[in-house]
Amino acid sequence: MDKYDYIIAGAGCAGLSLLHYINQDSSLHQKSILVIDRNLKKSNDRTWCFWEEGSSDFESLLTTSWNAISIHHRDQNLYLPTAPYTYKMIEGLSFYESIISKAKLNHNIVWKEADILSIDDQAVYWEGGSATATFVFSSILHYNPVFKDAESIHQLNNMAKSHTVKPFLWQHFKGITVEYENEVFDPSTARWMDFNVDQQKATAFMYVLPISNKKALVEYTVFSKSILDKKEYDDPINSFLAVHYPNQSFTIQHEEYGAIPMTQNSFTTRQTSGYIPIGTIGGAVKASTGFAFKSIQEQTKKIAVALSKEEQPTAILKKTRHSFYDAVLLDILYQERMSGAEIFTRIFSKNQASTVFRFLSNTSSIFDDIKIMVTLPTRLFLLTAIRVLLRWK
Ligand SMILES: Cc1cc2nc3c(=O)[nH]c(=O)nc-3n(C[C@H](O)[C@H](O)[C@H](O)COP(=O)(O)OP(=O)(O)OC[C@H]3O[C@@H](n4cnc5c(N)ncnc54)[C@H](O)[C@@H]3O)c2cc1C
Repeated sequence: MDKYDYIIAGAGCAGLSLLHYINQDSSLHQKSILVIDRNLKKSNDRTWCFWEEGSSDFESLLTTSWNAISIHHRDQNLYLPTAPYTYKMIEGLSFYESIISKAKLNHNIVWKEADILSIDDQAVYWEGGSATATFVFSSILHYNPVFKDAESIHQLNNMAKSHTVKPFLWQHFKGITVEYENEVFDPSTARWMDFNVDQQKATAFMYVLPISNKKALVEYTVFSKSILDKKEYDDPINSFLAVHYPNQSFTIQHEEYGAIPMTQNSFTTRQTSGYIPIGTIGGAVKASTGFAFKSIQEQTKKIAVALSKEEQPTAILKKTRHSFYDAVLLDILYQERMSGAEIFTRIFSKNQASTVFRFLSNTSSIFDDIKIMVTLPTRLFLLTAIRVLLRWK
């Protein structure tokens, strides 16, 4: 077997982010690295949005950004400035290409396109080959969350219903980038959550991200136990566009689907000294919202720092009061005790976007937390908090 210092199994968001931070550290340039993915000819398969203060390593890759968001529920229309945060958009392909092209200049990095069959502590196996390393960083899920066929939908939905992974919801969505002939969008504001759509007996909203006054990514997003059939996302999107921009012609420039697991249960607790799960399977997805891009950056940067200091890298996240809040919110959504539309509208109607962003990115102060909590029904949240506390390990 070929032996490397590191194997990065899965060159998606987490794998390539890790490669980016390793590559930025000159003390790690001599490390031999195998990057392996079933598809290294990346496509624009997803669009990431995230908020941050100031700028990051990926500033030059941004498609666009906003300084205001809006929330809509029944007759409530909330327009909120995001300062000091900016809400930003990066297209998957620019992110992948930028990191891959820079990493290809480092001849200690070996690229392999293959379907990984299994991963052991310090070893990766694919058809016709295998390799070992001091550390294997894996973001390979044993199933494909981007649903392709009925069989996989069935499996995913069973997973959400199974007792072992409760509470478990999917954040699933279809997004299309539309370009109108006329100017119909306000590019200054990201329509973050418009709950005036079919709720699918769960929580659903339209997410409209204007890239210019003619072009926007329009995404129908649902938090529920079951993923919909692909075509079921089309009706809500089409009726939303017909109501908001009547008699206007547009072309569809891009489509994307996604299903992000919303759970506190880690997919893989089998981190060992030589196998480190990262990204979605490394617990980087925020259980109550599905946001992951920013926490993947934090997680992989931390790993690169540990490697540079020759310390044992880890992706295990400590249980904090924020993960407890997440568990409570998720439980309420899972048990259908209150709709997401009601929860998020209440929170945003009484708080600045910056307070909510801090709360959702685990950086809020206790004072911020109290401001959020008083907007929600005390009895329901207290009873759920007690229930969650009883199973909290
Ligand atoms: C469409 C979409 C939009 C999203 N938008 C946002 C957003 O706006 N903001 C946000 O914060 N989060 C978002 N997310 C959630 C999260 O940021 C992404 O899912 C992110 O890509 C997760 O990173 P990852 O590295 O764990 O997985 P991935 O990026 O999916 O990477 C996994 C890699 O493993 C490879 N692979 C899988 N199986 C095998 C195998 N058997 N052999 C070899 N290779 C394999 C895949 O080809 C892929 O390259 C979105 C997710 C999706 C799906």
